[in-house]
Amino acid sequence: MKWDDDAEEVLREVPGFVRPLARKAVEKLAREEGLDRVTREVALRAKAKYLGIEEGGRRKKRIAIVRCDIVSEVCPGIGCLLAYENRKELFKRYEGEETSLVGFFTCGGCSGRRTFRLANTLKRYGVDVIHMSSCMLMEEPFNRCIFKEDIKRSIEALGIEVVEGTHHEVGKFALGKRFHERD
Ligand code: SF4
Repeated sequence: MKWDDDAEEVLREVPGFVRPLARKAVEKLAREEGLDRVTREVALRAKAKYLGIEEGGRRKKRIAIVRCDIVSEVCPGIGCLLAYENRKELFKRYEGEETSLVGFFTCGGCSGRRTFRLANTLKRYGVDVIHMSSCMLMEEPFNRCIFKEDIKRSIEALGIEVVEGTHHEVGKFALGKRFHERD
């Protein structure tokens, strides 16, 4: 598909490692919009849609949450999602920042086999931070995850920041208490 020169300029502002994918995404959007060439406007729309980068370089932080596949059988994820929406607990750090929740997925079951693959996909869509859900990190009331350190390392190996937890205390002595339940 033909690109206008000023559309190519927009593409050059995208980090090199995602540029080939970004080119495809822009062309896909152009086709969806019934265009036979890529204009600067469609390139900017695609940049905002796929990478969250608005004109002028304004960018929302892109956040995803990975959670325990076993716990997902009994939990629809409301605690994680409400904590994100209301900037509570482990999401308090984003107060005043513009963010997008771009992924909410389970690890795929022991030993977290799906995490790397999906984190890699999210990376192509510009994810900045992945939260490991509290249920992956607590000692109780759910199963204790013996793979949590491997899962964390596999995300960090992609150059993505990991935050441990969503809406409960986490760490060695975290026994499933939510923040507001602390003494
Ligand atoms: S690897 Fe950990 S987080 Fe994933 S299903 Fe198993 S116990 Fe849950």
